[in-house]
Amino acid sequence: TKTERPITRTSELKISFEFFPPKSPDMEAQLWQTVEALQPYQPDFVSVTYGAGGTTREPTLSTVKRLIDDTPLATASHLTCVGATRDEVRAVVEEFEAAGVRHFVALRGDPQGGVGTRYAPHPGGYVNAADLVSGLRAMGDFEISVSAYPERHPESENDTVDLDMLKQKVDAGATRALTQFFFDNDVYERYMERVQAAGINIPIVPGIMPIQNLTQLKRFASMCGASIPSFLDARFEGSEGDAQARAAIAADLAAEQIADLSRRGVQEFHIYTMNRAPLTIATLDRLGVSPKAGRVSGAAA
Ligand code: FAD
Repeated sequence: TKTERPITRTSELKISFEFFPPKSPDMEAQLWQTVEALQPYQPDFVSVTYGAGGTTREPTLSTVKRLIDDTPLATASHLTCVGATRDEVRAVVEEFEAAGVRHFVALRGDPQGGVGTRYAPHPGGYVNAADLVSGLRAMGDFEISVSAYPERHPESENDTVDLDMLKQKVDAGATRALTQFFFDNDVYERYMERVQAAGINIPIVPGIMPIQNLTQLKRFASMCGASIPSFLDARFEGSEGDAQARAAIAADLAAEQIADLSRRGVQEFHIYTMNRAPLTIATLDRLGVSPKAGRVSGAAA
């Protein structure tokens, strides 16, 4: 039987927000509006993804630089080692360090042929994310976060192999893991039991995905090994074509997931904002997390 713990006071919740670099002027405007709207929630940190979807280091660097220069937000940059030599990674790290980055989310990255193809390390590059973490450790005194997969990474043949990679990343110097999104909290709880049994003691911060679009999410989830429980379909049933109702359901779901995890003792959450503020705000609202006064944004200036 599970002991019911009291819900963590929302003032004790730590949150971080994930953004991606915009690919067009419209998306750029949307990102900075989002940053301005979310900034008063005073996240522990925000992070900007790297290299995914055909982008290079430049859009990540300029986004990170603007966050550091124009906002008070602690900003982490994601970094991948796919398709790059060690020297190339070092040059990128030096550039980001010069821009003020002190926190990296270190990732291997998807195979260059796309998800589902075979990953091959670049000759002269880092072999995997753990190797990249060691390299980063040697380059400077950075805070290093990594990925974790409660439903295991699609390339891992079993849970042991998957957890072993996480352990290697921690042994190499990672101090926090951010998870792939998941919707079944029992899956996370069982994962945490395995994590603890493996002697891994860093925070494994749940990645929370408020559902902007269930159809798109299903497509994406099938590529990254995350499952979509049938209760999600049931909750959205009957709301087809009603954007407002669907947004309310999505916010209810994300808030319920966070509240339930918080009852199970989790205090830190990483929210995939998809560069949009309303759903994240509606979620935080339902949890009683309110914006805090006293910080002035320069982000949208
Ligand atoms: P690793 O931790 O190195 O490996 C993941 C798993 O794959 C391990 O459990 C390991 O067991 C298994 N594995 C790895 N190599 C092999 C192998 N050769 N044979 C068998 N099993 C193997 N991608 C981006 O491009 N840019 C981003 O900014 C980005 N941000 C992310 C943020 C988070 C929080 C998460 C969860 C993922 C992110 N990704 C990003 C996706 C990530 O790059 C992919 O999932 C990639 O396929 C694995 O990278 P990793 O660092 O998680 O890999």
